[in-house]
Amino acid sequence: IDYTEGQGWHDGRLTAYGPLTLDPATSVFHYAQELFEGLKAYRQENGSIVAFRPYANASRFNISARRMAMPEVPEETFVEALELLVQTDRDWVPSTEGHSLYLRPFMIATQVGLGVNYPSKSYRFMVIGSPAAAYFAGGVKPVSVWLSQDYTRAAPGGTGFAKCGGNYAAAFVAQRQAVENGCDQVVWLDAFEHRYVEEMGGMNLFFVFGDRLVTPDLTGTLLAGITRDSLLTLAADLGLAAEERKISIDEWREACASGELTEVFACGTAAVITPVGSVKGVEGGWTIGDGAPGPVTLRLRDELMGIQYGTRPDPHGWVHKIC
Ligand code: PMP
Repeated sequence: IDYTEGQGWHDGRLTAYGPLTLDPATSVFHYAQELFEGLKAYRQENGSIVAFRPYANASRFNISARRMAMPEVPEETFVEALELLVQTDRDWVPSTEGHSLYLRPFMIATQVGLGVNYPSKSYRFMVIGSPAAAYFAGGVKPVSVWLSQDYTRAAPGGTGFAKCGGNYAAAFVAQRQAVENGCDQVVWLDAFEHRYVEEMGGMNLFFVFGDRLVTPDLTGTLLAGITRDSLLTLAADLGLAAEERKISIDEWREACASGELTEVFACGTAAVITPVGSVKGVEGGWTIGDGAPGPVTLRLRDELMGIQYGTRPDPHGWVHKIC
């Protein structure tokens, strides 16, 4: 669907997947005015195809759009586009356990011209999809993380809370550093002291102190994960106390050493819930618990996946039936 200033959204259409033809001077190529979302469609036990909280993605998309000076997409249009795509072929959604159809709505600035006379006056919103297996090859195997001391992902007033490509482009070098140091993922720290935990490359983080959860608060520099939000609700349902607050790497290290911090996990649409087993990048690093997935991590994972795949009740109405 296209947007033109003065006209609004027009020409919604369903087309066969294939290359786009764009002028080399299209503004998105030069000034990165673009943003995206990521969510999944699941095949439930009863055969229904559902999307998980698509209106939450639509709402976050528009929060990103406002930050990037782009037009908002009406939530109904956003969800209808997902529905139309999935309905073209319901067999597209895998039936293998733990598999799903990953959906990628995105928007690009399409005005042609090299002058930085922006924002663009025209945009295109599109949705593509791709069948997805488990995110990490090891399944629920704990991941190792690298605390990034050399790079910053987001600073106050920046675009950290928006799901725009520039955030990810700037993160590649730190992710490469993590891999070069034998770690799976980078953990971003605050911009000023490199001391407070923010999030991972594509996931939010939770710290488990026995039966108490702590997750970094949304200060504007990290993405408000929909999985994070769902887990805060599920934790309350399960009688687990959950706090949103700052957590420093010193607290992380010391609470691991004292045994008070028993589990750490990362969460996101792609990775679901993945335990964090070890940390590197500061003072030689440390391990969390015995390095194996802990009971709280597994309990929350089971609960969330149960709702997504329809094997557990959905008390919060998160599952949206597509067909
Ligand atoms: N942080 C970042 C930077 C991400 O890219 C993602 C994935 N969208 C998340 C956190 C987790 O968000 P969600 O639970 O909505 O997938």
